[in-house]
Amino acid sequence: MSLCHPEVGNVSCGACCGLFNLKLQPKEFKTLLLERTSEFQSTVDFEVRHTFPIYRKERETKEVFIPKKDEMTYNCPFLGYVDSAKQRIGCMIHPIFTGDPKSQNFSFYGASICQAYDCKNKESALADLWETFFVEVAKDSVEYSFLSADHIFSSAIERYFQLIHLNIDSMFQEFRLELMDLFRTRLQTSAEKNFTSFEINYESFSDLEVLEDYFTKELGDFWKEWKEGFSKKNPG
Ligand code: SF4
Ligand code: SF4
Repeated sequence: MSLCHPEVGNVSCGACCGLFNLKLQPKEFKTLLLERTSEFQSTVDFEVRHTFPIYRKERETKEVFIPKKDEMTYNCPFLGYVDSAKQRIGCMIHPIFTGDPKSQNFSFYGASICQAYDCKNKESALADLWETFFVEVAKDSVEYSFLSADHIFSSAIERYFQLIHLNIDSMFQEFRLELMDLFRTRLQTSAEKNFTSFEINYESFSDLEVLEDYFTKELGDFWKEWKEGFSKKNPG
């Protein structure tokens, strides 16, 4: 298991399959995923290969009217719920379900890209710690996907702790509640951002001033409030 599909909890991530490229509200994402899942289950037969492209074409036609963040980024309709409780997001044509190692070739990206892509947070040395933490913070897979895809915010907070000379362990232990507070607020501001995980970080976060600007831009007044509370707990 991995950041994409955590060992524990009922959440998983599907951000890099293009979900958040669609300009929808959190509950509309769930509705869309439920619709895809239901249509996939009732029309695709793993033994009948032409049912895969028919499903894809049908969904692409239905979803073409949903506004996108970036017209050049594809939204894969094979992303749906992959557990019976319809809580975990995943690839409905993953080989573990189809038994065919190449079944993702029915998608736009193709099996080699689908299976090789790892986002920055998944590649991070702290991926396991972030995974456990995001499972705790997220109420569902849509929130979990927002958190997992937002690698710039995670790297900014890692850098913040580094620059104020606190080790990363303390961030996940002693300051876990503060971190949680920060990320719950982040979820409110990130809902409009439609992360794909492909975002490029053009900032090196070289000093605290740059980070201050970044956090203020991303969190508004909450950043100041959070920092004041944090400073009381950690007078430094
Ligand atoms: S965005 Fe990252 S964590 Fe999410 S599914 Fe893709 S690779 Fe996995
Ligand atoms: S086929 Fe590829 S892009 Fe589509 S849901 Fe599966 S892993 Fe994601």
